[in-house]
Amino acid sequence: MDMEIVLATRNKKKIDEIKRIVKDMPVTIYTLDDFPGCPEVVEDGKTLEENAVKKARAVSKYAKMPALADDSGLEVYALAGAPGVFSARYAGEGADDRKNYEKLLREMSSLPDDKRGGRFVCVMALAFPDSGVEIFSGYAEGLIGKEPKGTNGFGYDPVFYPKGHERTFAEMLEKEKDLLSHRGMALGRLYAFLV
Ligand code: IMP
Repeated sequence: MDMEIVLATRNKKKIDEIKRIVKDMPVTIYTLDDFPGCPEVVEDGKTLEENAVKKARAVSKYAKMPALADDSGLEVYALAGAPGVFSARYAGEGADDRKNYEKLLREMSSLPDDKRGGRFVCVMALAFPDSGVEIFSGYAEGLIGKEPKGTNGFGYDPVFYPKGHERTFAEMLEKEKDLLSHRGMALGRLYAFLV
């Protein structure tokens, strides 16, 4: 029988990606729309893992079913791992994707090609109502471009070239990104756990 899991995120783009990647897995997915009274969780953790665990635990407790939270971000090596856990609000509270990647391009404007490495990190926490929790992480190594390219995906996708590729995530088809992405890798690990 499928495991019932509620996604502990309101990010529509993340929900779409996760649903797409798990569509052949033995899970039935619910969202927070199915649990309208679920309280908001403040993402004040110092790490992606802390935030993911916090979100998953709170939602699982409320929904009384396993909850899966995704906390993710982009780490640029030459910026000591920034924007990292602050990726969603790099250009300030409420900043949109464009403002965030434009700030990143500005911060990196003097960096030559060989200093433009970074990686996407995705930490998934699967929390159970008995308060047990499993962590699944995924990574995507790559390079930050000098200008945005492409319109697919979300977040920093238009400026991220996965290693060995000459198109950004935003120039790729959904299924191409899913095979290379940090989220695809983390969900592959979830799949291995489930089966
Ligand atoms: P969170 O909702 O706190 O986990 O914020 C994650 C942020 O990291 C997003 O708002 C994006 O800016 C960035 N991010 C995470 N995953 C991706 C991705 O697959 N593509 C592009 N940006 C991403």
